[in-house]
Amino acid sequence: MPDYTYLIVGGGMTADAAAQALHEADPAGSLGLISAEPHPPYDRPPLSKALWKGEPEEKIWRKTAATGATLHLGRRITAIDPRGRSATDDRGTKYRFTKLLLATGGAPRRLPLKTDQIIYYRTLDDYRRLRALATQSVRFAVIGGGFIGSEVAAALRMQQRDVTMLVPEAGLGARVFPADLAAFLVDYYGQKGVTMRMGEGMAGLERRAGSCVVRTTVGGEIVAEVLVAGLGIVPGVELAEQAGLRVDNGIVVDEACRTSNPDIYAAGDVANFENRALGARLRVEHEDNANTMGRTAGLNMAGRATPYRHLPFFYSDLFELGYEAVGDVDVRLETVADWKEKFREGVVYYLKDGRVRGVLLWNTWGQVDHARALIAEGPAGRKSTCPSHAKFLSRPCGLPSASDRSPSSGSSRPQPPPIITSRLGRTLS
Ligand SMILES: Cc1cc2nc3c(=O)[nH]c(=O)nc-3n(C[C@H](O)[C@H](O)[C@H](O)COP(=O)(O)OP(=O)(O)OC[C@H]3O[C@@H](n4cnc5c(N)ncnc54)[C@H](O)[C@@H]3O)c2cc1C
Repeated sequence: MPDYTYLIVGGGMTADAAAQALHEADPAGSLGLISAEPHPPYDRPPLSKALWKGEPEEKIWRKTAATGATLHLGRRITAIDPRGRSATDDRGTKYRFTKLLLATGGAPRRLPLKTDQIIYYRTLDDYRRLRALATQSVRFAVIGGGFIGSEVAAALRMQQRDVTMLVPEAGLGARVFPADLAAFLVDYYGQKGVTMRMGEGMAGLERRAGSCVVRTTVGGEIVAEVLVAGLGIVPGVELAEQAGLRVDNGIVVDEACRTSNPDIYAAGDVANFENRALGARLRVEHEDNANTMGRTAGLNMAGRATPYRHLPFFYSDLFELGYEAVGDVDVRLETVADWKEKFREGVVYYLKDGRVRGVLLWNTWGQVDHARALIAEGPAGRKSTCPSHAKFLSRPCGLPSASDRSPSSGSSRPQPPPIITSRLGRTLS
């Protein structure tokens, strides 16, 4: 039976970051990594961006093997025995551990139709399938106007494919961006040749004559040979639940990334942690969190006490536009936009009780640390104190005009996505 000092369940970026830290902090400790995917860890963000713009696949690989970890690929852990300190995979192999990390990420939400014409876009194999299909002259429909849906629609359109987006909200990215920016993006995508079906949800789904037919909530239909579902993910908490760990919108961990069992850690998309700067529990589905929290978990597992106090950022590309965002970028907060060039370059602040909770850096680069500092300032980080942040602002100081301010509440505001709210905390996705 394989017996490891450190066992990592999961083969994503969190797992790799933890393996690197474990190797650095305790090179003598034995390390095993088990992943349901057939590939060693790789970067996921290029799957919807750089690979479509010509970056070669070789660039995505992480160097996990250099940590000396034994990689058990194409195997899924199906049970954990916390008392016996062992985990069992889907082929019946048992692995012993002294310390265990759950880096199981999440699985895409699924549509109510079983067909290989639907792609749930999460893995390298999903990318390879879609890439092959994108060489054919078939119709694509992207379901959902969030982060993955918007990126995949842009990627397909850049290959001159026929793409329709079905988005229940009135604007694109409407849960994150202020209404005027979300509306601008609808026009922008339309100009790029994406057919935008806004304000239409999915009412039904069936196969007809070799195509998928989506019936929409306003009585319309979309017919496509390939559907890409961008409906968010469900955190992979099954093992934690089965092992009796505390789970609430993800696996609940302390500052050391430790679960309710002191020998079991969790990090990345699956983990629910307390964030000091926001004074809230979060579960974050983004790369910076995967890298930083994975590393922090690894250091703690190896005995190097390292609290996780990082405020993660995330980024995305939408054709030629791009952004980075820090903190709580939730459109239900009051938003204050400060445009250098409207919708092309600027900063949007998200405020609650006069305090900056989140910052959207729209085509504004190299300012993530300033944004973090502004959020960490607490009440003193109010937008009205902007002279001290002049270098951070795209248009030095000057509060935006009243027309740039959104109300802090209103019945026409987009509703929160189901994964955002929970009893314990919030999901930044
Ligand atoms: C296409 C795409 C583009 C993205 N772009 C961006 C971006 O631009 N910016 C950004 O900030 N974030 C982006 N993200 C999000 C980012 O990639 C994730 O936050 C990150 O991958 C999370 O890493 P993770 O290791 O925690 O989880 P995952 O990446 O979900 O990895 C979990 C791994 O665990 C394995 N696993 C799960 N359960 C088991 C089990 N029981 N046994 C064995 N193995 C198991 C899975 O197979 C998987 O390999 C993107 C995500 C995708 C899919």
